Amino acid sequence: MNNKCILCDVNNCQYHSNENYCTLSVVQIGTHESDPKQCECVDCESFVKAI
Ligand code: SF4
Repeated sequence: MNNKCILCDVNNCQYHSNENYCTLSVVQIGTHESDPKQCECVDCESFVKAI
């Protein structure tokens, strides 16, 4: 079921829906940087590669 509170266009994620929403009820957001300063520093840690 689409979660219309979480917009996402990562098409190759297992949890992505065809309508550019996430299907999870909650996602974990994190960073791979020690001092994030821009959007590119932030990741969806709930991502799972679609098979
Ligand atoms: S888990 Fe993250 S990357 Fe995957 S569809 Fe949901 S928001 Fe997008």
